[in-house]
Amino acid sequence: MPPQLNLILLGPPGAGKGTQAERLGEDFRLAFISTGEMLRANVKQGTQLGVAAKEHMDAGALVPDDLILAMAAARLGEDDTRDGFILDGFPRTTAQALALERQLGQGGRRITATLLLDVPDEEIIRRIAGRRVCVKAGHNYHVDYDPPKRPDVCDQDGSRLIQRDDDRPEVVENRLRVYHDQTAPLIDFYEERGLLRRVDGTRPPAAVHDHIRAMIATLRLEDSL
Ligand code: ADP
Ligand code: AMP
Repeated sequence: MPPQLNLILLGPPGAGKGTQAERLGEDFRLAFISTGEMLRANVKQGTQLGVAAKEHMDAGALVPDDLILAMAAARLGEDDTRDGFILDGFPRTTAQALALERQLGQGGRRITATLLLDVPDEEIIRRIAGRRVCVKAGHNYHVDYDPPKRPDVCDQDGSRLIQRDDDRPEVVENRLRVYHDQTAPLIDFYEERGLLRRVDGTRPPAAVHDHIRAMIATLRLEDSL
């Protein structure tokens, strides 16, 4: 059996984490875990967690660590993560990274690599301004870079495309500030552990995908030696 592939996608909001995770999940049959998607599902369903998270999300702030950690720990305990997983949007603080390390260690698991999608702020702003998501499943589009075949209709499930509440320009500025203050320190955190791999996220989605796949092939080879 090949060794587990436990990946983290790190990078600013709009760097293309979700776009890449979706492709990688298909290539490698890894459990795809997006804490942002999980929270949006909770908001939609009106759960207690969703109600508590919404005000933070709408302001472009982070949802408190205790809420995120309970949600992530439960998800990482599910069977489909046993052969490997891709984390998108988690961890986002040093406290979350430490808790993740602890939980995985207790189960004899570890992170294989953290892939940093590097994209400068001015490109992030362009990407987020044009991002559209479908109401049914959150499938991702961009009005210029990755438009749907029919305007405002999801190619995959036919549902309506909308702009996320937290993708409005006044919120995006805060999300970028929060990323630089609270999440970017994880670059050093994973670098110190020898787990960081940098990916040029400014290239087109297919080129980024090819680069990541080549990286994963190398990681697997290293792991099997
Ligand atoms: P994240 O999950 O990191 O927040 P997304 O995957 O949702 O980012 O991507 C943000 C926006 O940028 C989306 O509208 C997506 O279609 C677009 N996008 C993603 N990757 C690229 C890329 N490599 N080049 C151009 N646009 C991209
Ligand atoms: P995302 O879809 O990853 O851009 O996340 C959308 C929003 O959900 C973020 O702006 C945060 O408010 C919240 N969120 C998602 N993941 C986390 C996390 N790991 N820690 C704290 N807040 C999170």
